[in-house]
Amino acid sequence: MKALDELTFDNRFARLGDALSTHVLPEPIAEPCLVVASPAAMALLDLDPAVAETPVFAELFSGHKLWAEAEPRAMVYSGHQFGVYNPQLGDGRGLLLGEVYNEAGEHWDLHLKGAGQTPYSRMGDGRAVLRSSIREFLASEALQALGIPTTRALCVIGSSTPVWREKQERAAMLLRLSPSHVRFGHFEYFYYTKRPEQQKALGEHVLAMHFPKCLEQPEPYLAMFREIVERNAELIAKWQAYGFCHGVMNTDNMSILGITFDFGPFAFLDDFDAHFICNHSDDQGRYSFSNQVPIGQWNLSALAQALTPFISVEALRETLGLYFPLYQAHYLDLMRRRLGLTTGEDDDQTLVENLLQLMQNAGVDYSLFFRRLGDHAPELAVTRLRDDFVDIKGFDAWAERYCARAARDGDNDQARRRIRMHAVNPLYILRNYLAQKAIDAAQSGDYAEVRRLHAVLSDPFTEQPGMERYAERPPEWGKHLEISCSS
Ligand code: AMP
Ligand code: MG
Repeated sequence: MKALDELTFDNRFARLGDALSTHVLPEPIAEPCLVVASPAAMALLDLDPAVAETPVFAELFSGHKLWAEAEPRAMVYSGHQFGVYNPQLGDGRGLLLGEVYNEAGEHWDLHLKGAGQTPYSRMGDGRAVLRSSIREFLASEALQALGIPTTRALCVIGSSTPVWREKQERAAMLLRLSPSHVRFGHFEYFYYTKRPEQQKALGEHVLAMHFPKCLEQPEPYLAMFREIVERNAELIAKWQAYGFCHGVMNTDNMSILGITFDFGPFAFLDDFDAHFICNHSDDQGRYSFSNQVPIGQWNLSALAQALTPFISVEALRETLGLYFPLYQAHYLDLMRRRLGLTTGEDDDQTLVENLLQLMQNAGVDYSLFFRRLGDHAPELAVTRLRDDFVDIKGFDAWAERYCARAARDGDNDQARRRIRMHAVNPLYILRNYLAQKAIDAAQSGDYAEVRRLHAVLSDPFTEQPGMERYAERPPEWGKHLEISCSS
């Protein structure tokens, strides 16, 4: 266990120089106080969880103090936003404070979000509000607990600094951890500004630090692109299987590591709705729940375009072609598990699709359906779930096929089936209304609910006595919260 002043820095990205990032000091926020910290994320830095309660912790993660070895940098990047190329984005309100490596030899970027203005702030104030910082904190740690690759969140620090959005709010800072903060948009920036030298420096850095195995391949860049395609196919399969809607899949929000990155108006589905749009500003539904799958490929092709100086167009095209089949295979595998199946049959895809259609028609709660399906043996479970559906005849037909399929599956021991299904079907999900209640309390100075919700979501598959209300369906008001990009 380490104390805060014992972190070991090795600022590899800062060493790439001023073409890739700019030195900027954080601007502190007033009266910093700890809102919430993640002991699991602290463990990644070998930090003793008790240090979160010390005043210096809040000072370090609110811009008041800085380690002597930190080298805060704002990164430059660009990207496609809602399908349109934006030539200059960059860290407008976040800073890479430095890179720390832990006792296991892993490097973690310390990224302070809401740290003030930078050369890339454009018209923005460089700040993040408390509500969006809490939302990112809860989402990162909840996704991690579900086994979905994501950046991590160390803590949220609140303040008395006023900021203006639709109304006056309070500034906060979030300390994000990730092995890398390089986005698709980094490669796009150097490609479209025609700076091959810098693009090469970036590419070699990413290869050496994050894809070292690809350097052993005859075409390292192609091997890296292939791995990025594979990781994205798997990531998006997990989003779809677990009902996670990202909301702003712009290429500047896509991590080169294929992990969930930059949380805005995200949502977990309550009622199943393939057409769900979680981002209130997304009028066209470009980033609706079901569109995440083709948008994943669209984003990869934007990255492919930026990699044309390194890889032939034919090879890029062929590699992009792997995305859909890989996605399909991962998705089907996850959905089979969610249904308690341990083997594969040709008709499983149809079994899943039919179920989702029935759920869509009736507005069935996506997470609870799978959880309850595992509670009892198939025949009893479907009988109990039947009333949630509108097309009862349709459900009965599905249920008959499902029960027959489950019987053919081999392992029919219900005790084992229950354990197997509950291990992949969470009871606790970060529902928008739960986040909203925690945010409302935090905005009036009470952080107990954020902390409790974080603790519940850290172990989403295990029934936690006394926490029943976190496993309930949302009230009607909780299904229609409007979340926009303004954060
Ligand atoms: P996002 O929608 O959060 O992914 O942000 C898109 C771009 O806008 C990024 O370049 C951000 O750094 C920048 N940005 C977002 N909010 C602010 C803000 N309050 N101040 C400055 N830049 C911002
Ligand atoms: Mg972003």
